[in-house]
Amino acid sequence: MEGQNPPKLIDTHAHLASSKFKGEVDSLIAAANEGGVGKIVSIACNIEDSYENLDIARQFPGIVAPTAGIHPLYVDEIEDSWESELKEVAQMPELAAIGEIGLDYFHSPPEGFTEDSWRARQLEIFEIQLQLAIDSDLPVVIHQRNSAEDVTAVLKQFSKVRAVLHCFTGTVPEAEAALELGHLISFTGILTFPNAHEIREVAALVPADRIMVETDCPFLAPVPFRGKRCEPTMVSHTASALADVFGVSKEEIAATTTCNAESFFRFIS
Ligand SMILES: [Zn+2]
Repeated sequence: MEGQNPPKLIDTHAHLASSKFKGEVDSLIAAANEGGVGKIVSIACNIEDSYENLDIARQFPGIVAPTAGIHPLYVDEIEDSWESELKEVAQMPELAAIGEIGLDYFHSPPEGFTEDSWRARQLEIFEIQLQLAIDSDLPVVIHQRNSAEDVTAVLKQFSKVRAVLHCFTGTVPEAEAALELGHLISFTGILTFPNAHEIREVAALVPADRIMVETDCPFLAPVPFRGKRCEPTMVSHTASALADVFGVSKEEIAATTTCNAESFFRFIS
């Protein structure tokens, strides 16, 4: 390996369109590159993000890969035109995935919804987007919180979907259910938290060819940055934690997770 650069990491889940990064995307990307992060998947939560991600990706071709989608906690805010707008973005050649989409039962329903009608609305929008991903031949970034059983049931129905369960914090059986369906599992900085023993146990069981790393920035800064704003460059700390879980070198985990991300998002040119 002498004379070769170590393999670059891919932050497979960053919210570069977040207002918390306004005016700083250039410097965040420069810092990430310097810190060994070669590519960043910028994830959308609503239509606005979806267009913004596309703009950012066009400013940083080959470095930022955009996704488009409606996060389950934003399904009460969408306008009637959301579906046609999302379809339009999904046709853009730069688009790397539909996401993040899914089901979130952790928070109480917003005004005007009961628990049942809120879940039904989330499901409706989730299913439309899964079908769009199939029709557009795009992979899917899944958000789930307190909803693993229902997400698995939906993914079983949409068997053509290729998905990653992002920010995985579930149990071993939940991970096994996703892996059985052929999906990938991605870990955030939570993997570095001292009390996250269970998550590290789950990570140890994920086959090496089905695992990815992410920041979910601006949230979930890993140790030693907890409580600070999370940034894409910090994905290297999550990769180090994963290397420890597998008992391999950081270079090896970088090569493995980058290879998985390249094939999942079809970055290989
Ligand atoms: Zn996210």
